[in-house]
Amino acid sequence: MADIAKRLSTNIAGNFFVDATCINCDTCRQLAPKSFVENGEYSSVYRQPETEAENFQAYQALLACPVGSIGALVPDKTVMRAATESFPMLIEREGARLGAPGAGGGESEVFYNGFNSEKSFGANSYFIRHPDGNWLVDAPRYMKKLVDTFERMGGITYIFLTHEDDIGDAPRYAKHFGAKRIIHRADADAQPDAEWIIDGLDTVEASPDFRIIPVPGHTDGSMALLYRNRYLFTGDHMAWD
Ligand code: SF4
Repeated sequence: MADIAKRLSTNIAGNFFVDATCINCDTCRQLAPKSFVENGEYSSVYRQPETEAENFQAYQALLACPVGSIGALVPDKTVMRAATESFPMLIEREGARLGAPGAGGGESEVFYNGFNSEKSFGANSYFIRHPDGNWLVDAPRYMKKLVDTFERMGGITYIFLTHEDDIGDAPRYAKHFGAKRIIHRADADAQPDAEWIIDGLDTVEASPDFRIIPVPGHTDGSMALLYRNRYLFTGDHMAWD
């Protein structure tokens, strides 16, 4: 929960603010770029939401913030509830881009999970609903809301861990769903009991739709996941300073 006493002076006046516990993970700036901006070592609110859509996005950012650094002076519980329900957020179903969340009967769906975890420094995580078994790509906070939704969508078969920093609550999701965690041997110290350890530098075809590509660099055991030749989940492989 954000603390008004720690409100950063870089915030513009108004309902939303960021406090000094921000870890500068970028999540809020991705979800609500019209309200949040990087400011030195923190994010701050540079413009208060002016439309319903911007307000909704600011609440999504508040919920996804891994360390609870975003506050609203006058919280709107109705919008907060709707923003909670918007996660996991549908990115694409059956090749047609959609803007609304959902769990319909499409052949394949890709979601952004929200509820980023402090344990993974606020990394994004994703859920792929697939007829041959669902995949979690890195792991969000362990939240009942997400667990219930994943259950409704058929559970989790695999948890793909891009690298050692982005484990999040993967062990709890693995235990609950009986999922196989996948990690590279060079990063396996972070998950020594992972069910599937990848060795070497060769691409592994996990199934015709899923290719695991070792990409050492950010960490020795970094890996990318190529899904249907359309989505490349890269973890921090493309991150730069
Ligand atoms: S999501 Fe939270 S921790 Fe991350 S940059 Fe925004 S305010 Fe900071």
